[in-house]
Amino acid sequence: MKTIDKIYINGVFTNPHGKEILPLFNPATGNRIGEVYLGDETDVNEAVKAAKKAFKTFSKTSLKERGEILVRLYEAMIAREEDLNAAAVEEYGSPITATKGRTRYSAQLFLDAKKAMESFEFETQLEHAVVVNEPLGVIAAITPWNADYTHICSKLAPAIATGCTMVIKPSELSAIQTQILTECFDAANVPVGVINIVNGTGLIVGAALTSHTDVALVTFTGSTNVGKQIERGATESLKRVVLELGGKSPNVLLEDADLEKAIPLAIDIAFSNSGQACHAGTRLIVPDSRIEEIKPLLKKYTVALKIGDLHSPDTYIGPMVSEKQFETVQRYIRSGIEEGAELLVGGLGHPEGLGGFYARPTIFVNVDAKMTIAQEEIFGPVLAVLTYKTEAEAIEIANDTIYGLSAYVSSCDIDKARQIALQILSGRVLINTAINKEAKAPFGGFKQSGIGRTSGVYGLAEYVEPKVIAL
Ligand code: NAD
Repeated sequence: MKTIDKIYINGVFTNPHGKEILPLFNPATGNRIGEVYLGDETDVNEAVKAAKKAFKTFSKTSLKERGEILVRLYEAMIAREEDLNAAAVEEYGSPITATKGRTRYSAQLFLDAKKAMESFEFETQLEHAVVVNEPLGVIAAITPWNADYTHICSKLAPAIATGCTMVIKPSELSAIQTQILTECFDAANVPVGVINIVNGTGLIVGAALTSHTDVALVTFTGSTNVGKQIERGATESLKRVVLELGGKSPNVLLEDADLEKAIPLAIDIAFSNSGQACHAGTRLIVPDSRIEEIKPLLKKYTVALKIGDLHSPDTYIGPMVSEKQFETVQRYIRSGIEEGAELLVGGLGHPEGLGGFYARPTIFVNVDAKMTIAQEEIFGPVLAVLTYKTEAEAIEIANDTIYGLSAYVSSCDIDKARQIALQILSGRVLINTAINKEAKAPFGGFKQSGIGRTSGVYGLAEYVEPKVIAL
């Protein structure tokens, strides 16, 4: 049993003022593995006070000093790589191979931010004035449970790069992972007060940060519903918000797609991170003329996915993070069946021989675009397959959602795929791939998938305010 009874304020691990205690579970077994002591408004006030004080000096540091801090943060994470991996496997239920990649990726975000900082225009000389991009101030980061430390690092790295200070409220479901990450930050010799971490619920700690008058910006990753609450809570003090929200991403297979490549890719796009990914391509949009060829391939590649032992290097699917998330996935599978979609593979309950919060990778065909499973974000391994007769119809279906975070196109004709990509309303469109390899590219959503961008100079731009000095 692990007890996480400290939060991190002004460079010190300290007991929270808050008295609430939340149990932590291993999602692979459903067994209780620890507990976390949660902070409250008093803890938020202390953390913001420390960040505000630190901002006075940290905002004046040189690029060189901040670059060195970013390198130290990277090194501190790499030094604890094994511990971070073990915590993500145990507490989040993430299979080891995916976990290892994610830990490296998260650490690398500090080096990426250093590069972005070195090419960012902190000052622009115009003809009659200078525009100085000043750091905004104290930034509050509120993060979800999926990929705990990736989200924390993606928000912290640009703060360090721009000279801002930060109060982080991680997901209350990720306390063991956050504890190790906090120890990494502590070991990186960052000036006191620059990084503060307060465990707590969204309704108490999250809301207190959102309305705090000394917080200049809230950068949030999570569900669209909570994103709306944060925007409302930030209104009174007119604080800036960056919102990375939910998705229901389309994956459009064009008529000429090579199915032996496009179908395993579609499975990966839908089910990576056990389907608990904001950018998951959970609506597969295929030509009506090829659906009978596609169905057996979807089944073949899904039943081949290895589910279960999280320490085995070839395990691909792990459990849902919590019992609540498992129940949500079951509810959506039930709604697909009740609304008349055809269950191709998977279904209700646990995969054979597994308990805990494991759900079955599930694919529905004959899905109508208005069905609940085609409209709402499920955040589990459930794929809805829809068919089209014309490309215009494919684009209409792809855009028929409140979301616009990510999209995918498969085709052997790259020019045609690009033409389709330009017509899809989405923050990014990936062609014949599940991964965007461009670290300098912005990430964020169209429509109700978010406001603002992270990554590269676009991410840095969210953390500064332009000031004009004219003679
Ligand atoms: P969530 O919205 O329930 O919670 C996210 C965070 O917000 C948690 O730390 C939670 O405690 C906090 N919170 C909850 N209510 C709050 C309130 N009223 N005020 C302030 N903070 C509050 O999301 P989740 O279940 O942790 O994560 C899954 C969601 O995150 C999915 O919708 C997924 O699409 C989204 N997500 C988006 C991205 C992206 O980059 N767009 C990435 C990962 C996850």
